[in-house]
Amino acid sequence: MRRNRKAKIVATLGPASSDQATITALFEAGVDMFRFNFSHGSHEDHRARHEIVRGLEKTYGRPVSILADLQGPKIRLGTFQGDAAVLETGSKFVMDRDETPGDASRVYLPHPELFAAVKAGQNLLLDDGKIRLAIESNQDNRIVTTVTVGGKISNRKGVNVPDAILPIPAMTPKDLIDLEFALSLGVDWVALSFVQQVSDIEDARKIIGDRALIQSKIEKPAAMLDIDAICNASDSVMVARGDLGVELPIQQVPRAQKEIIRASRKYGKPTIVATHMLESMTESPMPTRAEASDVANAIYEGADAVMLSAESASGNNPVRAVQMMDAIIKEVEADPTYRMMLDAQQVAPLPTAEDAICNALRDTTCAINAAATVTYTKSGHTSMSAARVRPTTSILSITPELKTARRLAWVWGIHSIVGKDVTSVDEMVSEATTAAVREGFAKKGEYIAISAGLPFGASGTTNLLHIATVK
Ligand code: PEP
Repeated sequence: MRRNRKAKIVATLGPASSDQATITALFEAGVDMFRFNFSHGSHEDHRARHEIVRGLEKTYGRPVSILADLQGPKIRLGTFQGDAAVLETGSKFVMDRDETPGDASRVYLPHPELFAAVKAGQNLLLDDGKIRLAIESNQDNRIVTTVTVGGKISNRKGVNVPDAILPIPAMTPKDLIDLEFALSLGVDWVALSFVQQVSDIEDARKIIGDRALIQSKIEKPAAMLDIDAICNASDSVMVARGDLGVELPIQQVPRAQKEIIRASRKYGKPTIVATHMLESMTESPMPTRAEASDVANAIYEGADAVMLSAESASGNNPVRAVQMMDAIIKEVEADPTYRMMLDAQQVAPLPTAEDAICNALRDTTCAINAAATVTYTKSGHTSMSAARVRPTTSILSITPELKTARRLAWVWGIHSIVGKDVTSVDEMVSEATTAAVREGFAKKGEYIAISAGLPFGASGTTNLLHIATVK
């Protein structure tokens, strides 16, 4: 089974998409990576989904990626008398450490770290930014604010703090439990929510080790200030437009999306554009014109993948939403402007052997009109470096490691397969040509361009470019 497009599709599983038939239909419609959202559902829900996805791999003989998305340090208010209160624009509103239910003048904030971090002049956003507060003072465990945009607020609504770096780790005690559970299942990627700084990724890597790769969700203005370093330290990034659009003025989100995609391309880290892509399809069988354009534009900008959240997790049309994304991506990829845009965004090679090889690989496939680019990889590094240069051919990525094959399944242009371990160049060429024919990429007499690392079996050694003719 082969996808006829280069950009990929990520779908979140949830109540609307947890049975065998729906997950199978989602996969057949085009999903390359399934996202398990640990903000919702029990461990048993995720375990059952995991079993179904791994079963699909056996049925279709194709690796599938699984992303465990950790909730992260979501800050929430305490409770209100009668479960809600109406905050009037212009009135004073205090957050304090008194656990008694709040009212229109005050509420409990169960996050001591916030009292240590915010100061007068900064803003707080409640309930996805629907209510806005300007901080006047913060002393003696009382944050005194003026309500700049009022409205009704109810128990435990979220609090966003766009203007401060909070002294909190990217993983909460709940995340640590969810993480160990997700790793015990054998997920391929772990997404960290509300990443603020490089040390958040470094701290997570100390715990995760090589058990999974790390995706940083970019949803804090603080992360935008250090986006190059954050992309470099991560294995991939997500443009998490839901919270990003709360924390940043919404008109800045399109620009931030472009900046994130550019930075991640620079460091060869795959990117997902997420949230509200086909939101109206949660109800309606067709998206709006603006949504279709949004998906198309993310692809034109060079994203590796586009993501469905509520559309596939809890909407009425999960499979249609995937079919729609698949159709939009194919339409973009058939447009010559797409190739022109990818070429125009081509990034300078990093000063590494693999980047030098992969740039040469890209030029070589064009020069000899190769039928396919084949990458031999152990860790996945060679294949990701090849994807970074966006070759005109598909990238047939061959690895002896199932876990590597799964990790690569959602990366732009990669057709990921498990192949046998090779010990010589002759064996590699023979394996590569056989696989290129078997997987439908090349015919007798055509060229393929192969890159790999010598010695075989060692990670991070990309140093070989070889042209072979299919016999
Ligand atoms: C987002 O904020 O866009 C996002 C993908 O994260 P979550 O769904 O966890 O809010």
